[in-house]
Amino acid sequence: MTFPVVGMVGGGQLARMTHEAGIPLGVGFRVLCDTRQDAAARVASDVVVGDYRDLDTLRAFARGCDVVTFDHEHVPAEHLRALRDEGVVVRPGPEALAHAQDKGVMRARLSELGVPCPRHRVVADPADVRRFAEEVGGFPVVLKTVRGGYDGKGVWLVRAADAPEAAEPFRAGVPVLAEEAVDFARELAANVVRSPHGQAVAYPVVESVQVNGVCDTVIAPAPGLPEERALEAQRLALRIARELDVTGHLAVELFETRDGRLLVNELAMRPHNSGHWTQDGAVTSQFANHLRAVLDLPLGDPRPRARWTVMSNVLGGDYPDMYPAFLHCMARDPGLRIHMYGKDVKPGRKVGHVTACGADLDVVRERARHAADYLRGVIDE
Ligand code: ADP
Repeated sequence: MTFPVVGMVGGGQLARMTHEAGIPLGVGFRVLCDTRQDAAARVASDVVVGDYRDLDTLRAFARGCDVVTFDHEHVPAEHLRALRDEGVVVRPGPEALAHAQDKGVMRARLSELGVPCPRHRVVADPADVRRFAEEVGGFPVVLKTVRGGYDGKGVWLVRAADAPEAAEPFRAGVPVLAEEAVDFARELAANVVRSPHGQAVAYPVVESVQVNGVCDTVIAPAPGLPEERALEAQRLALRIARELDVTGHLAVELFETRDGRLLVNELAMRPHNSGHWTQDGAVTSQFANHLRAVLDLPLGDPRPRARWTVMSNVLGGDYPDMYPAFLHCMARDPGLRIHMYGKDVKPGRKVGHVTACGADLDVVRERARHAADYLRGVIDE
């Protein structure tokens, strides 16, 4: 037995933080990046620059890796099947990953399993959107391209059949899914990790706050969530992981409705923004557990280390140089954990996150919020 090499396709911040988690585990880490400037390419020593859409590039990348995993879900499914058929260990496998790659496939399968989801249907054109709206009790409805969306891109809230947003999704040339617009009380995420031989762990269910379709803040555990509902969410996520044969980290994004129901919104089969808090707030981070899972190692303890942990994303603001603000935040709050991704600052781009832990939720939330706003340049004191 020797220490294995994990290959991660995609060189963004998720790969950068997975690499970081792999260092104390002593495992090798190779990353397939688009450019040398990618967040993970700036820190990893074993970097391959190439196009993840090209099968030969993937083959060459996989040579020497004991397992191949992902920082995003965009690798074409036929390439993943080809690699797997050639003996490459791909985790999660292509059949599982299909549910994170295509929202139509995900909705169809979850409905088959009886998992509660928003009412939905694949629609052909704006007239079909109008018919769908009539079926679900009227506008607004949500339209989504089944593939290629992220951070709210590829999602439209449509208020009328003749609104410009009703035509927009059909321009991408991929199937469009219509969903009832859920009047949710808040968004939650149930994050679990599952290994190939079936061991699984569940993290505390978190509340995730989105601003303009982008994750802004995550609170662990979700405040005021009744224990039975938290257990229901964890059981649901564990069941989805098992039924879909997921290996690695699975994020199940949920809506909590005003009448207390849970509906599944989205699945992600990789480390996820709603799990970043685990780096500082859980015994084992999502990144370490993702590595352990794809290597089929025993999984680490997912339990929290503090009563409350709050993570706020740092988005690029108007000031390209965050360094002076960075110094201020460190001096003001030595207990704050700051994670920067080494990315160039562009307005709205996720460039880092901060985490605060403690016993008083209001205080913890304010510390994280202050630092994220200060780094972005929204506040200056
Ligand atoms: P992506 O992850 O590709 O950005 P999502 O499907 O998660 O897309 O949608 C992004 C955000 O849009 C969600 O976090 C939620 O705030 C909102 N949203 C998505 N679907 C619905 C829906 N059916 N009803 C109400 N809001 C929705």
